[in-house]
Amino acid sequence: MAEKRDYYQTLGVSKSASDEDIKSAFRKKAKTCHPDLHAGDKDKEAQFKELNEAYEVLSDADKRAKYDQFGHDAFDYAAGAGGNPFAGGNPFSGGFHDFTDIFGSIFGGGFGGGAQSRNTPMAGEDLRYNLTLSFEDAAFGVKREIPVTREEICETCTGTGAKPGTQPTRCAVCGGTGQVHRQQNTILGSFSSARPCQSCGGTGKIIGDPCESCRSAGRVKKSARISVNIPAGIDDGQTLNMRGEGEAGYKGGPRGNLYITVHVRAHKIFSRRGFDLLLDLRIPYTVAALGGEIIVPTLREQVKYNVPAGTQNGTTFRLRDQGIQRLSASGKGDLFVSVTVDVPKKLSPEQRSLLEQYARIAGETITATTGKKGLFKK
Ligand code: ZN
Repeated sequence: MAEKRDYYQTLGVSKSASDEDIKSAFRKKAKTCHPDLHAGDKDKEAQFKELNEAYEVLSDADKRAKYDQFGHDAFDYAAGAGGNPFAGGNPFSGGFHDFTDIFGSIFGGGFGGGAQSRNTPMAGEDLRYNLTLSFEDAAFGVKREIPVTREEICETCTGTGAKPGTQPTRCAVCGGTGQVHRQQNTILGSFSSARPCQSCGGTGKIIGDPCESCRSAGRVKKSARISVNIPAGIDDGQTLNMRGEGEAGYKGGPRGNLYITVHVRAHKIFSRRGFDLLLDLRIPYTVAALGGEIIVPTLREQVKYNVPAGTQNGTTFRLRDQGIQRLSASGKGDLFVSVTVDVPKKLSPEQRSLLEQYARIAGETITATTGKKGLFKK
């Protein structure tokens, strides 16, 4: 490694220089070799690194005392792998004191890339709404009005937050960048982290004369009713995106979205599987045995259905196109009717007599006829 120059020499100050002298010498020299102003100039870059390293030590009372006592040996640990704040390739990633403060005042802020992100247009927040629908409304679709309270651009100040006729001024704490950098020294080197400036709330601007309508927020809460066409076939748990119906954006950014999550109430007799409807239906055992016409309820109407003779308990019939309208597609699902053969719990004397007659013809032996335990056996 090449012999290091004396830090005082690098900065061009005497050993007795005050903190203020060091700071001002650094500012002056940094202007002559800062990579932002001399892009691609390797010599300047090396010079700037050297300058920065010197400043980092001499601007810190503790480090400066060590340097005065031990020279460069005091900081040998920092020369190893990972110890150099420039090792990452980005000369601005760390290792500075009062980084933003100094460079903000030298170069007028906006330094360091991305630091102004909070000043740029940002989308408004999304809103969420839970909408409960009846089974039929979900199946057939419905028009609903959703009440929302959302942030709108303040009409008085058109969103600037400043009283009409006044202008916000640049925040002196962050130099208008909206961010402040904090340096942490660790055994692996120095790291600088950025956080939003608390003085200006990350906006980089101070509003001296706030708008009275929005108290400088630039947005005000307003109630609105959003008209929504719920499409036929929507199902429980599905979410509709109402693009641009969320809160107003910041600094001309786009509006957020309104997400409507649908909850569908259960139906008394139908249940749903995709776009198909399921129905449990009891039919008299005579109809099951003899066959015949039954009335089947659907979502829309009542329809007639011919049950074939000899229908067994648990048989499922399919009624095509009697299900739910497919969401954003043509056609409908089907209705599946699962039948339970209804055995009467009580018989009149005449019914009993006829059934006993039937049993004899069918060769079924009746072993108990007390009426309390009517038991059929083969
Ligand atoms: Zn306002």
